[in-house]
Amino acid sequence: AAFPEPAEDSPALRVLRRVFGYDAFRGSQQEVVEQVIGGGDALVLMPTGAGKSLCYQIPALVRPGTGVVISPLIALMQDQVDALRALGVRAGFLNSTQDMDERRLVEAEFVAGELDLLYLAPERLRVEATVRLLERGSISLFAIDEAHCVAQWGHDFRPDYLALSSLHEHWPTVPRVALTATATEATHAEITSRLGLADARHFVASFDRPNIQYRIAPKDEPKKQLLQLLRTEHPGEAGIVYCLSRSSVEKTAAWLVEHGVEALPYHAGLDSRVRAANQSRFLREDGLVMVATIAFGMGIDKPDVRFVAHLDLPKSVEGYYQETGRAGRDGLPSTAWLAYGLQDVVQQRKMIDTSEGDQAHRRRLAAHLDAMLALCETVECRRVRLLDYFGQKSEPCGNCDTCLVPPESWDGTVAAQKFLSTIVRLQRERHQKFGATQIADILMGRKTAKVIQFDHDALSVFGVGAELAEAEWRSVARQLLAQRLVAVEGEYGTLVLTEDSAEVLRGNRTVALRREPAKQPRAAKAART
Ligand code: ADP
Ligand code: ZN
Repeated sequence: AAFPEPAEDSPALRVLRRVFGYDAFRGSQQEVVEQVIGGGDALVLMPTGAGKSLCYQIPALVRPGTGVVISPLIALMQDQVDALRALGVRAGFLNSTQDMDERRLVEAEFVAGELDLLYLAPERLRVEATVRLLERGSISLFAIDEAHCVAQWGHDFRPDYLALSSLHEHWPTVPRVALTATATEATHAEITSRLGLADARHFVASFDRPNIQYRIAPKDEPKKQLLQLLRTEHPGEAGIVYCLSRSSVEKTAAWLVEHGVEALPYHAGLDSRVRAANQSRFLREDGLVMVATIAFGMGIDKPDVRFVAHLDLPKSVEGYYQETGRAGRDGLPSTAWLAYGLQDVVQQRKMIDTSEGDQAHRRRLAAHLDAMLALCETVECRRVRLLDYFGQKSEPCGNCDTCLVPPESWDGTVAAQKFLSTIVRLQRERHQKFGATQIADILMGRKTAKVIQFDHDALSVFGVGAELAEAEWRSVARQLLAQRLVAVEGEYGTLVLTEDSAEVLRGNRTVALRREPAKQPRAAKAART
């Protein structure tokens, strides 16, 4: 008797409105939902905040049976389930944090067909009893959240995910939807093959975050550089500062507090109550700065994070993009700022060399680091490079440091030859290893204690590079690394030649280098007007 049903009315749309209270689907949500309701498989690549959850929650409510959601985010399951229950959705979870009684209760509900959604930690599937439990219920779909965890090539591989390939063999008629916010082309391909999703429909949303200004600066005095950024561009605003180690998290947070910034530390070594308290303060209060290791951020939904700063080089472009993506979820101008130096590369090489795992694993880590370096040293638009890494073509963005203040490039062939021939001479000394600092000192003709100790002032290259300042030689070193014309080796960050170095030394190859712009780009806010 009231209003006529809208023409586009469908069971999915009714659930969207009645259960979740939203008017319309976003992006390709509706297509994904219809695909899964129709019994088909789907692979969904959408950035964080795009609304992936509804892509499986709605089909689970429309189709008969229970939707089984595989998720590695154990710490978030309770919250997710509580939020669903508040909407009247019959949801439950099974993971290692529960005691036997809680688990039994959820299992009984599932078997009785009283659950719309069951969240499951991936390691549960290794337990034979879980598979038998699943056989006793009726399953409407499998949702594989954080699907990039199945990819060994990716930056967040979890062996438990490999077992997920068996779901399809066991339940060939149950539709599957795999979802991730981070997948390069290589990772996308690996998810497809490992989960057997070649026949699935692939939904790939744009990964661009146009309101985030990407900037990468040479690391000089990182804490001071950071403070300058906070004071001039983001005073009193909320942000995240990522550091590699727990100790630098603590030092940086304390230093910021000393300098009048309201900062809190967060890392896995802190007491869990302190961690939880700091996290909830960051979410609830305005203008707090969270200084954290990458342990912080998964599942954090704070819309007004105005900046994400990295004081150390991230280990992969995927990780970097995911971390910076926590800025500006409200769509307002935000900054992603990274400081990196040669020491970062040395340190990470060392970590790779001593890491657990086989040779192939170390090669993957090294390839991730190389890609990250190439991004840092590019003269092109940062966003073009980033999106290209995720398989998406774009035009220069006008909102990154290289677009705002284009770096000049200069013919660095002679400088590279000087640098490389110094390495050649140092390599003749078998017992002693030298890094970039010693090379720069030799080239600039500095008689430091270490130069005199090893008679390096007697080398023919001593003083031949006085035309460049120390910061410039450091920049040369970083770029030669990024171009794979030198490599880092061993514990002390010894620089060594690569296969390609000889071409430069012989004069058969020219080397283009970027000159670091003297001035920093304008602030994010100024750039918008
Ligand atoms: P993701 O998993 O992709 O990071 P979520 O599923 O957590 O994103 O959704 C992000 C936010 O957007 C949530 O608060 C969610 O309720 C909201 N949302 C998702 N889809 C819609 C929609 N169609 N209309 C309005 N809000 C939506
Ligand atoms: Zn750009």
